[in-house]
Amino acid sequence: MTGTGTSRLRGKRILISGAGVAGPALAHWLTHHGADVTVVEVAPTLRGGGFAVDFRGSAHLGVLKRMGILDELRSLQTHGGAMRCVDAQGREIFTLPAEFAGGEIEVRRADLSRVLYECSKPHAEYIFGDTVTDLNETPRGVRVDFARGASRTVDLVVGADGLHSCIRRIALGPESRFVRHLGHCLAGWEFPNTRGWSPEAEQFNVPGRMASAGADGRDESRAGAFLVFSCPPVTHDWHDAQAHKALIKRAFDGLPWHVPDLLSTLDDARELYFDSISRVSVPSWTAGRFALLGDAAWGVTLGGMGVGTGLVGAYVLAGELAAARGDHHVALPAYEARLRRYAAVWQRGANPGEFLAPSTAARLRLRNAMFRRSLVRRALIASTKSLASNIELPSYTF
Ligand SMILES: Cc1cc2nc3c(=O)[nH]c(=O)nc-3n(C[C@H](O)[C@H](O)[C@H](O)COP(=O)(O)OP(=O)(O)OC[C@H]3O[C@@H](n4cnc5c(N)ncnc54)[C@H](O)[C@@H]3O)c2cc1C
Repeated sequence: MTGTGTSRLRGKRILISGAGVAGPALAHWLTHHGADVTVVEVAPTLRGGGFAVDFRGSAHLGVLKRMGILDELRSLQTHGGAMRCVDAQGREIFTLPAEFAGGEIEVRRADLSRVLYECSKPHAEYIFGDTVTDLNETPRGVRVDFARGASRTVDLVVGADGLHSCIRRIALGPESRFVRHLGHCLAGWEFPNTRGWSPEAEQFNVPGRMASAGADGRDESRAGAFLVFSCPPVTHDWHDAQAHKALIKRAFDGLPWHVPDLLSTLDDARELYFDSISRVSVPSWTAGRFALLGDAAWGVTLGGMGVGTGLVGAYVLAGELAAARGDHHVALPAYEARLRRYAAVWQRGANPGEFLAPSTAARLRLRNAMFRRSLVRRALIASTKSLASNIELPSYTF
């Protein structure tokens, strides 16, 4: 476990918006340092959608170890296989090794979120089905208004509420100033594996479209579909699942391979993970008594390192607050100074949509030619591991 807690944040009331990955991890560390923590999540329960996420390099694994969840996550590994890129007849074009897609530890995002929630839940208050609607900073705190619950005053508010963060919007301004749509959307859902999909996933492309599917490595009776497609910025409501489904069906209509089969499972999907592939750039992650963390601050959808960076960020933010005994004037700039280069470096230039579903025939040919070369695959694995490790974790033992 994390060792004896500290009381450096005793009496500090901290509100976290978002119970995804970074939010519960921060709740764990803040309560470890003695703070009174409330996490508010807009979804009615912990969100279960998404696919596998991975950890790589010493910083990611180091934080998991300090949190005391490394062994549990090892036991939940997906044991996901390689990813075969195939043509419409199922002939292999190239194969990405398991390590490329799955890093050193790969778990289902839903399992990770649950583990983080369970390790923080005994010490923090969780409120589901509500959201912050207004924030007003005073010299003695921040008054927070909610859509459903009663207003309250806290010492600090952290937006760990993802790409479409409401804390960022309320504290800093509209999403359009900070989030750039990179030209693609993604969709993923689970379905019963009645067609014998293997854990070695298959991926099929035409220009601007990628469809893939594979069995769940821990329960092969389930399979997952994962689609990426070029599309203009989304204008409909992010919570409108029917509109997402209509958009997906239009985008993939008439394509060969197993696409019609996959689309036929969409209407019965229990939970659809849909988002635009976007990059978040926020000039300053902190202002007064507000801080942003995780995708809300530095996200790139499917950027590959969002999960590990979110956990490292949560550890550093809580540690800097404890080091400064809760003085946000000192702690928040220190958090940003320690993390900005680490978090910003891997997202610079990243465009996972263009990699997964190159938008023209020429780009698709170029991508395929590159990934047939084992040297390119090995170089990419090595460079992501080195970027993920490019931070020295402070100790924060007091
Ligand atoms: C359902 C889901 C599935 C995902 N699947 C994958 C995946 O398969 N692969 C991958 O690489 N990344 C995936 N991601 C993104 C990945 O979790 C993040 O990149 C990374 O873990 C950083 O986490 P985060 O906590 O900053 O953001 P997120 O994990 O996105 O969590 C943000 C949380 O904030 C909540 N929220 C949003 N708006 C509000 C609001 N107004 N008020 C309160 N709460 C709010 C969301 O419901 C969510 O629970 C997924 C995200 C989600 C939400």
